[in-house]
Amino acid sequence: MNKVDIHGIGMTSRRTRDRLITRLKDQGIRSLEVLDVIRNTPRHLFVDEALSHRAYEDTALPIGYGQTLSQPYIVARMTEALLAAGPLERVLEIGTGSGYQTAVLSPLVKKVYSVERIKPLHERARKLLRTLSIKNAQLKLSDGGMGWPVMDPFDGIMVTAAPDQIPEELLQQLSEDGGRLIIPVGDRGVQDLLLITRQGNAFKRESLEAVRFVPLLAGIQK
Ligand code: SAH
Repeated sequence: MNKVDIHGIGMTSRRTRDRLITRLKDQGIRSLEVLDVIRNTPRHLFVDEALSHRAYEDTALPIGYGQTLSQPYIVARMTEALLAAGPLERVLEIGTGSGYQTAVLSPLVKKVYSVERIKPLHERARKLLRTLSIKNAQLKLSDGGMGWPVMDPFDGIMVTAAPDQIPEELLQQLSEDGGRLIIPVGDRGVQDLLLITRQGNAFKRESLEAVRFVPLLAGIQK
């Protein structure tokens, strides 16, 4: 008997995916829904082929243009926190990047809107999400610091790049009845991952944990 895995890459990746799920549980992710979606989302397709063997490690990976795909723990934590008060219908993501977080959100909510400021990343993500037959995600090339005004209000907004301060536009685009915003805020070292909940014109603020994201930048890069 030789050492070739007769079940091929499929079985191998199932085992490595299961290991990732175990690790996420050990780190405190409780939502079975979120864990299930992460198990079923092919993260290896969202990174460069040369890195695909590391796709199910709990680590951030480069996606080109100086940007990174967050580690699975952070994706899970943010998704879980966004959904913690119950199901959401309309969610806006700022920073499409590879499209992985969009793909994770898509089976969990009714509709995902996602904006990206770097054109080649936007185009690549759009193509990949189409290939994966993800139909409830709408992508746009734009500066997400402005949110997506014509599409508001959103039940949830998830920001995957860090501003120094919370953009006022995002607060205003949250639905008044319990809209939730997850956003890393702070300078370019370590940021504070905040959960903001809106009730009318009151915004409750909770700090979740220390995180490290790429900066939220202004303008579009062609
Ligand atoms: N959610 C992504 C993470 C990508 S990293 C994923 O799952 O792959 C953060 C992304 O935010 C980068 O692609 C970066 O270009 C983008 N970004 C930074 N500032 C932005 C802005 N003002 N508007 C839209 N996207 C922005």
